[in-house]
Amino acid sequence: MKVVPMKRNRWMMCSQKMNRAGHGKSKGMRARWLSAVAVIFCAAWGQRVEAADAAVFSAGAAKVAITPSMGMPIVGNWTRPTVSNIHDDLHVRCLALHDGKTTIAFAICDSVGIPREVYDAARKFIDAETDVPSANVLMSATHTHSGVSAGGSREVDGVLVLSPYQTLVARRIADGVGQAIARMQPARIGWGGVEEASEVHNRRWYVKDARLLSNPFGGVDQVRMNPPAGSSTLIEPAGPIDPEVSFLSVQTLDGKPLALLANYSLHYVGGVPAGDVSADYFGAFAEKIGKHLGVDPADQSQENTPFLGILTNGTSGDINNIPFKDGGPKHAPYEKIEQVSELIAKRVATAYQSITHHDWVPLTAASEELVLQMRKPDPEMLRYFASLQDEGRDPASIHRLSKNYAKRVQSLAEGPESTTVLLQAFGIGDLGVTAIPFEVFVETGLDLKERNPFADSFTIELANGSYGYLPTPRQHKLGGYETWMGTNRVQLDASERISEVLLSLLNKMSQK
Ligand SMILES: [Zn+2]
Repeated sequence: MKVVPMKRNRWMMCSQKMNRAGHGKSKGMRARWLSAVAVIFCAAWGQRVEAADAAVFSAGAAKVAITPSMGMPIVGNWTRPTVSNIHDDLHVRCLALHDGKTTIAFAICDSVGIPREVYDAARKFIDAETDVPSANVLMSATHTHSGVSAGGSREVDGVLVLSPYQTLVARRIADGVGQAIARMQPARIGWGGVEEASEVHNRRWYVKDARLLSNPFGGVDQVRMNPPAGSSTLIEPAGPIDPEVSFLSVQTLDGKPLALLANYSLHYVGGVPAGDVSADYFGAFAEKIGKHLGVDPADQSQENTPFLGILTNGTSGDINNIPFKDGGPKHAPYEKIEQVSELIAKRVATAYQSITHHDWVPLTAASEELVLQMRKPDPEMLRYFASLQDEGRDPASIHRLSKNYAKRVQSLAEGPESTTVLLQAFGIGDLGVTAIPFEVFVETGLDLKERNPFADSFTIELANGSYGYLPTPRQHKLGGYETWMGTNRVQLDASERISEVLLSLLNKMSQK
């Protein structure tokens, strides 16, 4: 069905009449039902109605909680305190978009990272329970460092069995997506971006002090992750930053904000006391942005659908919130989360005033599987780890993480030869959104923005899986934590292979 945008004005008159008639329908049927009824109504008025005229843009949003129980271990740091306080709830925040023909959806989860099997389980629910193909749903983790593990599946008699928390997350992703689809109503859509460089800092640095550069493999790196802030040893960062806060907004036909999904390349903020569960600044931004857009929390007129804010993680594998050069002031718990989320929300709200909301744009979704080889230790590395057991060896000569990495390398040696990752792209008008299941380095994100055939674009990391860090080949040569075998697990040119697949998907989509 070819859509003819020029005829939309006449169509909008019809579709607005239909809005109220759509109440009470559920599960994504409403948009198509609206289209069908509208065609009949318009035809009844004696107008020449083509199939193209039935293209109504609609959107719906929903959030559901995935807050873990007290006593579960909190992951994302070197130690694992158990949950002793729930500061703020963790959620799956969902946005569904429909162009009259194609539906796409986002499901953004407050988690440090979610393995593919959880998303695959959610996809089964979505395929069984909605009319939207799960291949059109982009699922990702925000990378809050104050949640619990979404891992823990195990094989029983050749069948993969999810942990109770994994099952909860899969179920709730499907619940959130289903609810967002059910809430879809005629909507307008717009997008834009604004720069805020003050909160993003490349965390990999060249340093003068060689003691800061030793690695767990008995070697010396060229750069250091998270060097001591404010120290005279700092020379310069080893990579760039991406200052852009990108955002996608949907409004009701009369201009009331329905949802806003933003994207910023910042690993997380932190400053959360040990034992606290928190969605970090991702949750704080999501809760603040509505107020800055002028949403009245008491206004329930939007078909009983409150406004929903969402913040996705961009390409932030090597970016954090520490101003390394001077270290910055000390902060009370949650103070920095509050400051950063408030600043980013204000910046987005200002930029929001100057973007165009369209009555209709085309939606496209594409995905492709890519096989990546797993890294394997060479004999020299295995000999080095074996030598750590030598009697008489001075313990001070051993890197504090060598034992940890000996285990990680061993599990890679014994593990599979390859892994298959899911890469995904959305076209939303002339906005291209790409999704990568790693902690992606910022230069990969900047390169994708540069070479993207769509006029505007952004990348969501830790989407559709969680496979560790994804340094570029250039950064692999420099060494440092993110490049260490065991932190990084896939072939050294994986970032380039992934970008090529995504650009080829985008090129095909943009030509349609
Ligand atoms: Zn992290």
